[in-house]
Amino acid sequence: MSKIKMINPIVEMDGDEMTRILWQMIKDELILPHVELKTEYYDLGLKERDKTDDKITTDAANAIKKYGVGVKCATITPNAQRVEEYSLKRMYKSPNGTIRAILDGTVFRAPILINGINPVVKNWKKPITIARHAYGDVYRDVEMRATQKGKATLTFEGEDGTVESETVYNFECPGVLLAQHNKDTSIRSFAHACFRYAIATKQDLWFSTKDTISKKYDHTFKDIFEEIFQEYKAEFEKNGMTYFYTLIDDAVARVIRSEGGYIWACKNYDGDVMSDMVSTAFGSLAMMTSVLVSPDGNFEYEAAHGTVTKHYYKYLEGEQTSTNPVATIFAWSGALRKRGEKDELPELMSFADRLEKATIDTIESGIMTKDLIGLWERNIPAKQVTSQEFITEIASRL
Ligand code: NAP
Ligand code: MG
Repeated sequence: MSKIKMINPIVEMDGDEMTRILWQMIKDELILPHVELKTEYYDLGLKERDKTDDKITTDAANAIKKYGVGVKCATITPNAQRVEEYSLKRMYKSPNGTIRAILDGTVFRAPILINGINPVVKNWKKPITIARHAYGDVYRDVEMRATQKGKATLTFEGEDGTVESETVYNFECPGVLLAQHNKDTSIRSFAHACFRYAIATKQDLWFSTKDTISKKYDHTFKDIFEEIFQEYKAEFEKNGMTYFYTLIDDAVARVIRSEGGYIWACKNYDGDVMSDMVSTAFGSLAMMTSVLVSPDGNFEYEAAHGTVTKHYYKYLEGEQTSTNPVATIFAWSGALRKRGEKDELPELMSFADRLEKATIDTIESGIMTKDLIGLWERNIPAKQVTSQEFITEIASRL
C-alpha cells in the first residue's frame, strides 16, 4: 500500500517528559507507516529552549505563521525547581504564552467523547467547546491594598492631554482595590477567532459576560462581538447556525441543562474557571484537546494536559506507565486534517478521521489506560493496558 503524500509541512513542536515519549510512539506506530509525513521540526524540549535562549520557541511560532498549521507536544513551563533540575540559564516564559502572543490567538478546548464514559451531567450528549480569551482582565491587573482611610481614584491621561478621573471609593477603613484593562484590538481578534472557529466546526456560538453590571467594561465586549458578528451573519444563516449572547449566570444555567454541541466563548477569567469545570464533568483532562486559532487563520493543535511528570519519573525507573496518549493523538489528527483541508488532500483528511476512529474504537472495546478505568460504565469488561500496548492496539485497528 502506498503512503499518503503531503504537499506543505506541518510545524512539529516536540516537548518534554512523558508526553515526549508518547510523541515518538505516536509518530512511529500510528502516523509514519501510513503517511509520508512532512514536518518542519522544532524541538521545544526544555534543554533546547535553554540552549537557544528560547529562540526556538519564537522560531516555531513564526513557522506556524508561515505554514498555517502546527502540532505541539506538552512542554515544561519552568519554575524555580525546574531551573535547578535542568541547570537553566534563566526561568523561561511559558512556550504556550509566547506562541499565543505571537499568533494573537484564542484557545478552544473540547472534550473527546466516548460511549461508556458518561459526562457527570447526564444530558450532555455532545462536546462543549470553551473558547477562552487569553488577554488582560484580572491576569494583567494592578492591585493595591488601602491601608488606611482615604480616597481611591481611577485616572486616564490621553495622549492629547485630556484627563478623565473617577472616584473608585472613599475608604472609611482599610480595604482592597484593583484596576484591570483590555484592548479593543484583542477583543476583536477574539471575536473573529470565535466566529471563524464556529463556522469551521459548524457549531453555534454562545458568548456571555456580565454587561448589565459592568456597563462599560463587559458591555464593550458585547458590543464588539455584535459588531463583528455582522461580518459573519450571512455565513451563519447559510449554515443554520446561531450566535447567542446572554449573561454569564444565565449561560451557566443553560449550559448545565443543554445537550452540548456548541462553542461557549468566555472572557479570560470565566474561561479559566469554566474550562476546568467542563473538562472535569466530561471525564478527564487526558481526553481534552486544545487548539489555538489566530485571527488570520493559523491553527496550532495540542493536548490540554501537561507533560505528566509523575509518570515520567516512573518511566525513568524502568516502569511501563499507563499514560493516556489520546489527547496527543487527537492533536496530530487535528493538525493532519487541517493540513489536508488547506492543501485539498482528502486522503489526508480521511486518514485523520480513521486515526480518531481507531482510537475511540479501542477504548469502546474496553481497552484503555489507567486514568479511564474508574470512569468506565459499560458492561464490557475494561482492560487496563500500558501506553505502549494501547498504541499497538490502535495501530492494529488502523
Ligand atoms: P499534568 O502533566 O497535566 O499532570 C497532572 C496529573 O494529571 C498527572 O500526574 C496525572 O495524574 C494526570 N494526567 C494528566 N495527563 C494525563 C495523561 N495523559 N494520562 C494519564 N494521566 C494524566 O500537570 P502537572 O503535573 O501540573 O504539570 C507537569 C508539567 O507540565 C509542568 O512542568 C507544567 O509546566 C507542564 N504543563 C504544560 C502544559 C502544556 O504544555 N500545554 C500544560 C499544563 C502543564 P496521576 O499522577 O494521578 O496519574
Ligand atoms: Mg485554570
